[in-house]
Amino acid sequence: MKWHEVKPEEVLESIHSSRENGLSEKDVQKRVRHHGFNELKEAEKPSAFLVFLEQFKDFMVLVLLAATLISGLLGEYIDAIAIIAIVLVNGILGFFQEQKAEKSLQALKEMSAPQVQALREGEWTRIQSKDLVPGDIVKFSSGDRIGADLRLLEAKSLEIEESALTGESLPVAKCTNALSDSHAGIGDLVNMAFMGTLVTRGNGVGVVVATGMNTAMGQIADLLQSAETLETPLQRRLEQLGKILIIVALALTCLVVAVGVIQGHALYDMFLAGVSLAVAAIPEGLPAIVTVALSLGVQRMIKQRSIVRKLPAVETLGCASVICSDKTGTMTQNKMTVTHIWSGGTTWKLSGTGYQPKGEFFINDQKVLVKDSRPLQQILTFGMLCNTAEITEKDDDYVLDGDPTEGAMAVAAMKAGLSRESLLNQFKLVEEFPFDSTRKMMSVIIEDKNGKRFAVTKGAPDILLKKLDFVLWGEKQHAVSSKYEAEIMGAIDSLASQALRTIAVAFKPVAVQSVYHQHEVERNLVFLGLQGMIDPPRPEVKQAVKECRQAGIKTVMITGDHANTARAIASQLDLLPPNGKVLDGAALSAMSDEELVAVVEDVYVFARVSPEHKLKIVKALQSRGHVVAMTGDGVNDAPAIKSADIGISMGITGTDVAKEASSLILVDDNFATIKLAIKEGRNIYENIRKFIRYLLASNVGEILVMLFAMLLALPLPLVPIQILWVNLVTDGLPAMALGLDQPEGDLMQRKPRHHKEGVFARGLGWKVISRGFLIGAVTLAAFMIVYYRDPENLIYAQTIAFATLVMAQLIHVFDCRSERSVFLRNPFENLYLVGAVISSILLMLGVIYYAPMQPIFHTVPILARDWLLVLGLSAIPTFLLAGSLLTSKKRENML
Ligand code: ATP
Repeated sequence: MKWHEVKPEEVLESIHSSRENGLSEKDVQKRVRHHGFNELKEAEKPSAFLVFLEQFKDFMVLVLLAATLISGLLGEYIDAIAIIAIVLVNGILGFFQEQKAEKSLQALKEMSAPQVQALREGEWTRIQSKDLVPGDIVKFSSGDRIGADLRLLEAKSLEIEESALTGESLPVAKCTNALSDSHAGIGDLVNMAFMGTLVTRGNGVGVVVATGMNTAMGQIADLLQSAETLETPLQRRLEQLGKILIIVALALTCLVVAVGVIQGHALYDMFLAGVSLAVAAIPEGLPAIVTVALSLGVQRMIKQRSIVRKLPAVETLGCASVICSDKTGTMTQNKMTVTHIWSGGTTWKLSGTGYQPKGEFFINDQKVLVKDSRPLQQILTFGMLCNTAEITEKDDDYVLDGDPTEGAMAVAAMKAGLSRESLLNQFKLVEEFPFDSTRKMMSVIIEDKNGKRFAVTKGAPDILLKKLDFVLWGEKQHAVSSKYEAEIMGAIDSLASQALRTIAVAFKPVAVQSVYHQHEVERNLVFLGLQGMIDPPRPEVKQAVKECRQAGIKTVMITGDHANTARAIASQLDLLPPNGKVLDGAALSAMSDEELVAVVEDVYVFARVSPEHKLKIVKALQSRGHVVAMTGDGVNDAPAIKSADIGISMGITGTDVAKEASSLILVDDNFATIKLAIKEGRNIYENIRKFIRYLLASNVGEILVMLFAMLLALPLPLVPIQILWVNLVTDGLPAMALGLDQPEGDLMQRKPRHHKEGVFARGLGWKVISRGFLIGAVTLAAFMIVYYRDPENLIYAQTIAFATLVMAQLIHVFDCRSERSVFLRNPFENLYLVGAVISSILLMLGVIYYAPMQPIFHTVPILARDWLLVLGLSAIPTFLLAGSLLTSKKRENML
């Protein structure tokens, strides 16, 4: 059927749906069975088996397997089988790590999957877009992405951008009339809305006519398979570093082999030892551990109510130096209550809290009746009519469906006994021009019983003031003059400085005509009065702002609200320092980019801004060298969110467009959640540093012990299978546990990390080399002491070297937990690490004392007194350079 050629009612009839009730659950299930889910087919993923095989494609692992095969053929069965087993276990671990990383990335994708509002069983419910079926009635508004192909049933100032389908980036105005052209292309089907396109203005209702691969988008879905890069800068840097490390490890390994051969070792022995060493020393597991650490961190962030959409954001979060946050809903509760109404020089106060429509009106603490004041009655009536919010009673509570500002105005009207139903009996709604944050107003055209029509506009008072011709003062209408303007401005300032959000209400009679234009409607108005509403700050925000300040992060409030309202709230939150400036949108527009750059460091509040200003602010801060986190929720916020270093969108009030542009979604829209995410971002990065430090120091130790031994013409201190065991057990488990470590106490007292900081910054390179050197040295010392005591018993000396290497690493792992000193951290804080270390020790003891393991791992039992030697030496690398409390104190002072 050509849906665009028929009238909405006929579409509903032929698709068996109802505008009032939508589909029933039974119907939905039937249709899902018939049409399937509303999904586009995705490109096939490589099979699990292929991913498993991938683990062995590493060049050195292949060389090791080849070498093992040769030694197997030469009769060294036990060695060969043991090495293959270890390589297999390593591969299996790598495989599971990768699967886990993949799964959590998939889970993330699903969490941020688009949702739509559908009418089911007569109630509007939010469902996943993939659950839509033909016949579903959906509603949408500016900022939403259309979930399926729709025939439009209602369209209010509706414009949709369809560039994904048509390539045309200008939005198309939509209507509901049937079209006659049966050959119209997608771009001409103005009574349809298509899956994947974006609502840029207005709102509407439509009935789903096609889902999944049957949609216009489905026809071209193959073209749209785009692989998003999920690598973080650190992962990229590590990949480059990995390449260098491979070369270094190989070069050193060759050196070990060459020196060994020169010193008279058999070429075959040295070859196998060399290959094992190369496999152990090349940190091939590093990228996988980094991914796991990142994705585990991301899961912790989900628990703290933030969803990372783009993995690189996790890293950038730790570098954030400025958070630009919306005020309404993010720093405040977005639970508005009208407390003041002002008109013609009179102020009424309202009692009552929240959305409960119970309260009274007072003038100077004297109770008054609304019906006694015509202007008051009119402000409340028009506030209710120019309004799309619904207040309903649910379980003894009143809930809001819609915009809180409008909800507050509806509740104020209800307190005066007005109800939308009875008002809609008196007035017919003819046209609506929805609110947008650039105009900062909303208008409707209404018609009374006598057929007379009025335009009613409500919006930001200082902006509406410029659109007035008359002012209603008491019962009389006056031409607007500077005297009245000053009175109104005075009232706005007075309400705003009490932290109230202010809305002006105005109207004018209009002629009956078929089409109204917004710019004509919203001018020459008659001013009625103001409504002032409280929006209390979220209680936890003040503390969060303080913690951010301690962490070297500046918080900037960006709001569409009045400068005085914003200033008052900023003061309540302790966000505005004594020398901090408040800049408003008009001043911001008048400034050149350079002028803004010059003052931006001193500005803490941007008020009455339009979304377009946000981009200018981001750019100015960035050119000051800041790493900027910027929040936003509307369509017009998307460019700023995109160009911020960390774009943050709102989980509850955010539009699809904002969410898609962002790299982080706040599930609860709460500023305090940003602080938690930053803390987690810092922690994840530090944990990655911790295990890089641990792994590389361990590898340096392993290589050096072999190199030193060869240089000193000693026998091999470790046999290949021992080296591989160390690589698997000692390096593997504790490194993973470090990825789960708790933050250091001063994590949020440090300055933000510089975003260009290299992997080895802040002394990490020195720590790796010095600790690695010491690990190698003590292992060799243990080997030499025991070897010279009894040169006949080489296998005993090798077991001692093995135990010393393992223990030195397992003690050193605790040092890696602190940037400052091992003494500053309670080792039992991270129970995963304690568990990993204990299991590594037990496995080591098993290899040494369990008789069947001894021939495989070339070990013999160690005597009790020699454990003193092993433990004494293995403690040295950690405690010799552990960093005294004194130096750490110095560091604290420096910060
Ligand atoms: P932010 O979320 O950025 O802190 P905000 O939500 O206060 O700011 P906007 O939603 O852009 O910013 O609102 C700007 C101004 O527009 C408000 O101060 C108010 O005066 C007016 N306004 C807000 N909502 C409506 C509405 N639904 N109808 C009419 N005017 C509105």
